[in-house]
Amino acid sequence: MMNHRGPAFADIIKRVTEGLNWVFGVSSDVITLTASGTGGLEAAVINVLSPGDRVLAVSVGVFGNRLASIAETYGAEVVRYELEWGAAADPDAPPRRLDADPSIKAVLVTHNETSTGVTNPLEAIGAVVRERGPLLVVDGVSSVSSIPCPAERWGVDVLVSGSQKGWMVPPGLAFVWLSERAWEASETATMPRFYFDLRRARSSLENAQTPWTPALSMFYGLDKAFESLRAEGLEGIYTRHHAVAQYTRDRVRAMGLELFAHDERFASDTVTAVRWPDEVDGPAIAKRAREEFGVVLGGGQQSLRGKIFRVGHLGYFTQDDIAAALDVLDRLLAETPARATA
Ligand SMILES: *Cc1c(COP(=O)(O)O)cnc(C)c1O
Repeated sequence: MMNHRGPAFADIIKRVTEGLNWVFGVSSDVITLTASGTGGLEAAVINVLSPGDRVLAVSVGVFGNRLASIAETYGAEVVRYELEWGAAADPDAPPRRLDADPSIKAVLVTHNETSTGVTNPLEAIGAVVRERGPLLVVDGVSSVSSIPCPAERWGVDVLVSGSQKGWMVPPGLAFVWLSERAWEASETATMPRFYFDLRRARSSLENAQTPWTPALSMFYGLDKAFESLRAEGLEGIYTRHHAVAQYTRDRVRAMGLELFAHDERFASDTVTAVRWPDEVDGPAIAKRAREEFGVVLGGGQQSLRGKIFRVGHLGYFTQDDIAAALDVLDRLLAETPARATA
């Protein structure tokens, strides 16, 4: 470890912040917090909102509900636009809510819903929200750095990501960016904040520091990760993620399996969610994959438990890694006798 108030760390945080600004597509500094992604979401909410504020929460799964819950916990009046899991948000729906209820101060959206493998059409949502004025607060934890999400260009006001997803770093850092409008809102917002007060983080960053002791080793990792990200370039990164996601979708379909995303146009390029067929014991297959082959198929969360599995393809991976995992799945499906159905 090193002195986090010394020149060596100052060099690291400056380089890392420049890298974050580049990936977020922004001209003001991204703030790095020591927290997991959820801490970043909490920071996003409490820095721009006040108790009693009306907000529209667009939710297509577990993480959309989590963002809504954070706002509720801190006293916002949350109006929910919830979709059936597997669906993507319709960009025409928020305008109807916003026109009917002009007191709505912010719209909360998950860019990439990791629980269902669906990517919301954020660019279109950004355009309609921006026209009407509320702040657009976006959970980009499992999208930013893997699929395009240029915050300024898309009219995003608050964008959050987390180190353990596409950034190729262990868990421990959250990244939060605020637009000029969002920083203005942070001056009058009254939800309680201390550790996650982004105004303090911003003024420390002017001196290349953080207000509290940062997770130094994660910074070393992120600094290194930027060498790879820069070498590949944003276009290269996005193209690789798209190609491997397409490969994953094509292969699971070739095995006779069905994607959980209702409409393939919104199927995520960072995580593929797949339905277990009714006639097989999916969790038993996942257990064999893990115990006999060291391949972890992500399970479904909450009501999707036992119904789907998820293949993550973001960050540090190659198509060969995914191919090897799918080979195991293919083999186990072929070996597994169909369960008797009534
Ligand atoms: C992983 C993830 C989070 C944050 O989860 P943590 O466990 O707190 O890091 C939030 N939103 C989405 C969409 C995620 O994929």
